[in-house]
Amino acid sequence: MLSFATKLVSPLAASLIFSLNNGQAVVAVSVLFCTLMAELVGPRLYSCCNCRNNVALHDDVISKAFQGRNSRAFLFSHTMNIVVGPKEDRQLTTGLHTVADVYCCDCREVLGWKYERAYEETQKYKEGKFILEKSKIVKENW
Ligand SMILES: [Zn+2]
Repeated sequence: MLSFATKLVSPLAASLIFSLNNGQAVVAVSVLFCTLMAELVGPRLYSCCNCRNNVALHDDVISKAFQGRNSRAFLFSHTMNIVVGPKEDRQLTTGLHTVADVYCCDCREVLGWKYERAYEETQKYKEGKFILEKSKIVKENW
């Protein structure tokens, strides 16, 4: 019910229904209430595809235009409930980087990697940030 209300009916649409038909005022108000509740319940999250462990916040997405090993990937400023593996140098399409694979702390699924160091000046903004493969995470609470 909550996600249905958030996805399909914005508060604007709810107030439009309200003004168009007073007979449906109760419906409109409850839809609006659901939308507000969904925002109060918690932030939109991404979870591990394997065990649904919460691993990142939607608000921490920096870019959705990255390429992972096998799929599209997102760049995050922060992640949570993950384990960072050993560092290694890897030649990526954007140059040489020191990276470390990141794992779900519960099920140990490899979710992506952390940029520990970028050697090229133009890539330095990625240092300390995380790549999570789109195919390895699922939306939660949207
Ligand atoms: Zn997991």
